[in-house]
Amino acid sequence: MKATGLETMTYDPSNIFAKILRGEIPCKKVTETAHSLAFHDIRPQTPVHVLVIPKGAYVSMDDFSAKASEAEIVDFVRTVGKVARDAGVAESGYRMLSNHGADANQEVAHFHVHVFGGRRIGRMVERPHD
Ligand code: 5GP
Repeated sequence: MKATGLETMTYDPSNIFAKILRGEIPCKKVTETAHSLAFHDIRPQTPVHVLVIPKGAYVSMDDFSAKASEAEIVDFVRTVGKVARDAGVAESGYRMLSNHGADANQEVAHFHVHVFGGRRIGRMVERPHD
């Protein structure tokens, strides 16, 4: 099985979002602040699907919430809110979502929040098919 970096929770700087932050691969940038970057998801699942990431090296929400500075956390939360307002979904509604670890199917081991909106999104969590 392909390593994701989540197995040990040590940050792997070869992850795809680290490459975006270093400018090694392109992204469709939405906004950038001192501590955060927002860009369009490459495979959007809703008309608005923006990813917000911290510039710091954090694997997931678990890591970010434990280790990030207050300045990074404030910047990040404000950026998520601004992205939604600027995308025009603050009135119609949106969902912010962050996957941590295996049970949540986190694919990219650099902390990120998805901002989904622009259509009715449905219920929060799918029921298992068993
Ligand atoms: P996760 O499952 O880790 O919460 O979500 C990872 C997200 O990153 C997915 O929605 C996927 O489409 C997106 N993604 C993966 N690779 C790239 C990329 O190279 N560029 C962009 N913009 N998004 C990506």
